[in-house]
Amino acid sequence: MIQLILPMRNVVILGSGCAGNTAAIYAARANLKPLVVSGHEAGGQLSLTTLVENFPGFPDGIAGPDLVENMKQQAIHFGAEYMDGAALDADLSARPFRLNIEGEWMETRTVIVASGASARWLGLPGERTLIGHGVSSCATCDGFFYRGKSIMVVGGGDSAMEEANFLTRFGREVTLVHRREEFRASKIMLDRARNNPKIRFLPNTVVEEVHDVEKLLVTGVRLRDLKTGTVWDQEVDGFFLAIGHVPNTKVFRGQIETDAEGYILSKGGARTSVSGVFHAGDVQDRTYRQAITAAGAGCMAAIEVERYLEAEGH
Ligand code: NAP
Repeated sequence: MIQLILPMRNVVILGSGCAGNTAAIYAARANLKPLVVSGHEAGGQLSLTTLVENFPGFPDGIAGPDLVENMKQQAIHFGAEYMDGAALDADLSARPFRLNIEGEWMETRTVIVASGASARWLGLPGERTLIGHGVSSCATCDGFFYRGKSIMVVGGGDSAMEEANFLTRFGREVTLVHRREEFRASKIMLDRARNNPKIRFLPNTVVEEVHDVEKLLVTGVRLRDLKTGTVWDQEVDGFFLAIGHVPNTKVFRGQIETDAEGYILSKGGARTSVSGVFHAGDVQDRTYRQAITAAGAGCMAAIEVERYLEAEGH
């Protein structure tokens, strides 16, 4: 039996990144008194970035954490409420919907899923154990700890280029390991990394092991050259993963239609396969994944919620 403790909501927004915060601004201005559940990574991916140079309206750029905090304050100003924690369970089988937020069940007429996507890991033995002891998925968070040290970054996309460049501020050298010859990164980001004298490229190479779990400290990695088959060990102090993200939709598995990787399938606009549940941001978007597109998606979701509730007479 589900025990309900919290009052019924018009709209609960899951996630406090660009998408969730923008949805909150619009929903709050529509007087829907939205509740934003911040999620495991409050502030979303912007809170882990440095300078954002491509968000319109900031000719000199703006720090990612400042941008997302400004959005949150803007939403609060119009009456949005925020709570820490994440949805642990959900029942979308009947209206009103039921969400379990950190052990407390609440009812809501509509939901905006803006829970984003989290860093992907390689799945190597010991990798998880060494998180915080030399293994990281966030250069902005952890780069500082590797001043004068040897750093490795894995990945071939824009994130890998950005992280490798950023980490040269701290490390004495940065090795960029990528499993293919071709890079997924945009030309400008790739060129910037290639022109950085502190970055050494290791294409066609994979990491097979991270040492040293027994010491609970990253001391090096075992690498394999996929073209020659050569295997060797390299000393490394900091091991950074930049190999993409996994959408945070686990809690809705089997309830909302997703693709094979778990990204929510859009049913047009911000609609999901469940009437009254809407998507916003990276949880659905595997193509654009930008702060500005997430913000736009948050706006769309809130407008859809407003119309949906109005049609129902709320
Ligand atoms: P991404 O573009 O999906 O790239 C992920 C990279 O990780 C790919 O090179 C992929 O290799 C590699 N990879 C994935 N799984 C792997 C595995 N198991 N082992 C080894 N390598 C693996 O992800 P992203 O770089 O995080 O970028 C995501 C989106 O954000 C993109 O649209 C990007 O443009 C955008 N972004 C923009 C900026 C910016 O403009 N400032 C900064 C960061 C990100 P393969 O190529 O072989 O598949």
